[in-house]
Amino acid sequence: MRAKTTEGREISLKQETPDGLKTSIRGPVFVPGDAGYEESRTVWNAMIDRRPALAARCLGTADVIAAVKFARENDLLLCIKGGGHNIAGLAVADGALMLDLSLMRGVWVDPAAKIAHAQAGCLLGDVDRETQVHGLATVLGFVSLTGIAGLTVGGGFGYLTRRWGWTSDNVVGMDVVTADARLVRASSDENADLFWGLRGGGGNFGIVTGIDYALYPVGPEIVGGLVAWPASEAPKVLELYRTLSAKAPRELTLVAFMRPAPPAPWLPKEMHGQPIVALLACYSGSPAEGEKVVAPIKSFGKPIGDVLVRRPYAQMQMLLDATQPKGRRYYWKSEYLPRIEPALCEKVIEHAAKIRSPYSAVILFQIEGALNRLAPDHSPVGNRDARYVLNIAGSWEGAEEDRTNIDWAREAWKDMKPFSTGGTYLNFLSEGEGPERTEAALGKGLRRLADIKAKWDPENVFRTNRNIKPA
Ligand SMILES: Cc1cc2nc3c(=O)[nH]c(=O)nc-3n(C[C@H](O)[C@H](O)[C@H](O)COP(=O)(O)OP(=O)(O)OC[C@H]3O[C@@H](n4cnc5c(N)ncnc54)[C@H](O)[C@@H]3O)c2cc1C
Repeated sequence: MRAKTTEGREISLKQETPDGLKTSIRGPVFVPGDAGYEESRTVWNAMIDRRPALAARCLGTADVIAAVKFARENDLLLCIKGGGHNIAGLAVADGALMLDLSLMRGVWVDPAAKIAHAQAGCLLGDVDRETQVHGLATVLGFVSLTGIAGLTVGGGFGYLTRRWGWTSDNVVGMDVVTADARLVRASSDENADLFWGLRGGGGNFGIVTGIDYALYPVGPEIVGGLVAWPASEAPKVLELYRTLSAKAPRELTLVAFMRPAPPAPWLPKEMHGQPIVALLACYSGSPAEGEKVVAPIKSFGKPIGDVLVRRPYAQMQMLLDATQPKGRRYYWKSEYLPRIEPALCEKVIEHAAKIRSPYSAVILFQIEGALNRLAPDHSPVGNRDARYVLNIAGSWEGAEEDRTNIDWAREAWKDMKPFSTGGTYLNFLSEGEGPERTEAALGKGLRRLADIKAKWDPENVFRTNRNIKPA
């Protein structure tokens, strides 16, 4: 059986090697050919097709510790899979021992302390489901099938970011298995340097097995959803987005996007596949106030569809799930923006008109608010000058269309990059984006992260990520 060492050297594993791992962990261990192996190694982005030598489906922290020990004793490359949603496929590596945490999905809520403890294999929807029982929520992302661990260690933003900052700003503690297979606690009181690194520096410093999030009263009912217009209305709709978002209260998050209309039941059949512009809104305060705040959107021009209504917050968190299915091919280019300029809106319209697939989109996310009020070095996510995120999101089906769609995304990005703050989001980096893009994401924090890496992972055991070399 072929495998890889930490340094990437090809080795062959003895037939009996996996048995040692099987006896030391409670969850199942798969090798190529086993039922379960394919499911375990498959990630969201079908562009990624990598084959680990071993996949260990951990059932708890003890399994993670045992698997790390095993990897160290046998000098095996390690990779960590949470939700498997990383666009660059960082969760899987050829020849590695993959720690698949997807069975670790427990969530415990302490409503009095307003803290949720979530196991690291949770998807965002798992956490929302449990916290909403108490009318509480933390800051998570826009698609409920994304993994909490990758999202949190890379930063994280969603509908509540304007009120409470990056997801990682809302972490109060983490349980972490280190490169030398010890379980430690990371919080502002314990191992504060490790805690700092894990709140935005990616999976470089240890394997998180549990995350404690601060919770806030949200919902259960909010006002949220979508309004769409034909793309011919885009100049006016994007101007509305620009002006409304600039003065929107923190409870309101606005997202604008352009794409070919999906075959959604709330859009007229004759518009399916036709270019549209849409606004996605979520008002997470009182529904009565929310209805007033979103009225200018609902009454703007002649929408072709409007599902911006009172709805459960947990449902809002799943609204986009069907548009981002596992198994399509994806390539993204992304930048932080300091503001929305009219000239940028013109570029959005120009490049949306050149979309080459029924699924691709140009998206503007609003994130301005709480994150801008914290000090630049509050966490490694930095980018405290970012007020919007531009995502040029290529999505298509066949491998033969890779070139066309990747070229579309790259050309649009080149043209819109001048509007950037100069920073980009670590968690939106696609395969093939070089170290200069990690630098654009982590900026000045990189030096401090390299010191933390040298202390907690001097041999760079955790390297299948946006890697930071130990100082
Ligand atoms: C459809 C879609 C929608 C998205 N929407 C948002 C959004 O709204 N907001 C946002 O901020 N991001 C969003 N993202 C980006 C998302 O944050 C990243 O893709 C993130 O990596 C997903 O986490 P995961 O656990 O699924 O990652 P995986 O692919 O499982 O893992 C990726 C990497 O994360 C690290 N990692 C994973 N688990 C652990 C762990 N337990 N301990 C330490 N490191 C770990 C490792 O380095 C690993 O290689 C979205 C992605 C997709 C595909």
